[in-house]
Amino acid sequence: MLLTSLMRIYLTRSFKPFVFKGGACKPLDYENLADLGLYVHIPFCRSLCSFCPYCKVMYDKQKASDYKTALLKEIELATEGTDAKKEVTSLYFGGGTPALMIDDLKDIINALQRHFTIRGGIGVELHPDDVSEETLRKLKQAGVTMVSLGIQSFNEACLGKLGRRSNDSAVKVRLVREYGFDVTDVDLIFAIPGQTHEILAKDVKTAFDSGATQISTYPFIDFTFADNTYKPLSQKKKKQMLKKLTAYCRSLQVDRTSVWTFAKPGTEKYSSVTRDTFLGFGVSATSLLKDSFKINTFSIESYIDRVDAGALPTSLTLHFTQRQRAVYFLFWSAYGMKIDPRKFEKILGVPLSQMYGVELWLSEKLGYLRKKDGLYELTEKAAYFYHTIEQVYTTAYIDKMWNISRNQPFPEQIILK
Ligand code: SF4
Repeated sequence: MLLTSLMRIYLTRSFKPFVFKGGACKPLDYENLADLGLYVHIPFCRSLCSFCPYCKVMYDKQKASDYKTALLKEIELATEGTDAKKEVTSLYFGGGTPALMIDDLKDIINALQRHFTIRGGIGVELHPDDVSEETLRKLKQAGVTMVSLGIQSFNEACLGKLGRRSNDSAVKVRLVREYGFDVTDVDLIFAIPGQTHEILAKDVKTAFDSGATQISTYPFIDFTFADNTYKPLSQKKKKQMLKKLTAYCRSLQVDRTSVWTFAKPGTEKYSSVTRDTFLGFGVSATSLLKDSFKINTFSIESYIDRVDAGALPTSLTLHFTQRQRAVYFLFWSAYGMKIDPRKFEKILGVPLSQMYGVELWLSEKLGYLRKKDGLYELTEKAAYFYHTIEQVYTTAYIDKMWNISRNQPFPEQIILK
């Protein structure tokens, strides 16, 4: 906590905390934004996994139908008054379990395509239980090009610790691959109690051998509001596992595409979080604009009521100071292991070297950054530092934010120090 506060104060050059304010939201000003991505949250699951912190509820047919109606309304509300179609980089469906609304995805995509031209791919997160010929065919017909499978582990004992049962996951990965999506991502969790480096390495190999083009390996984080019987391994063990995993992936000749993702060379990347700006639709979805960050309500009932009343379902808005926006940009760029000074200047209106010249110089000297082709690349040393910071930040900021949002549909304000 102290570490995040000190870093925030130093990097933003201010004691001003991040203040998320409740209250009505003005139309989203996105028309002039470059590299805009889209995200849609589908919050329904067949069963609720104990480790999962995301906004989700048990599937209910009527609720899902009402939710779809509300989603379509939100899309119309958010795009009201815009005539020309806006070009966007990509569209991602996350959750929850988007496949539980498989027959609705096409309608949602069509609604978005009336207002946006999707230049890149369309991605969907899938639970392995939902992988079937029928689902994959429907995804293809809907225009989906990228699939991310929430396998978490191929090892039965590890899955059991997460409250999941095994389900022929390797077969599921192979089936997805046979359908020829541009990206087959496999999500894995590391630092599960009892999990060794060998078990994790076997998971990685199984994923790639079964046809994954990318693996996303997330450290097990024990959110305060999760219901984990088993707790994650220590920070020290996590770091050791990440180090060994990185070396192992190098031996497989796959590229490190972010701090926690590895992909086969020459393949597309599945990444819903590393966009410069994005619009989010649905409960708990976030939108990142030029100078603000917005979060939708986490309550499905309040979400439906709000859009029925003709208002956007935003529950909280953070109006960035320039330095806060810069820190946000740098944080997510660093996750992708590359900082692009041109993009920074385009979004912030100030050269990166002018704002953080000393820090860049020092980071290069200390071996955290190296300059290549006009970009700053994070070294492995920096990636481990980031890995630690990200988890501290998740505990101090995201855990608090999500915990309050889960209990209050429209909080008055949240202050993150
Ligand atoms: S891990 Fe996936 S299936 Fe499990 S509760 Fe979370 S969103 Fe639902």
